[in-house]
Amino acid sequence: MPSKIIDVKEYVVRAHQRTIHTRIFNFVCQQCQQPTQRETFGPRPLYCEQCRHPQAPKKSAVPLKKRKPRAMTYRSDEGRVG
Ligand SMILES: [Zn+2]
Repeated sequence: MPSKIIDVKEYVVRAHQRTIHTRIFNFVCQQCQQPTQRETFGPRPLYCEQCRHPQAPKKSAVPLKKRKPRAMTYRSDEGRVG
């Protein structure tokens, strides 16, 4: 397949509405390895409907609030003159 490099100019897309359509994907689920079919708006899905909705939602091992803050180095007085 021939190819070449072209220059694409920068441009801004204004906010707008657009109609998008679903696509039906036939694929093999990454979880249960079963051939399945799903209709999605987005890209090709990885999991079938069953694996996509886990029966028992797992709780995160470390709650967000209990995470330690990142150690950060503040250098406010270095390199100043006067
Ligand atoms: Zn599955």
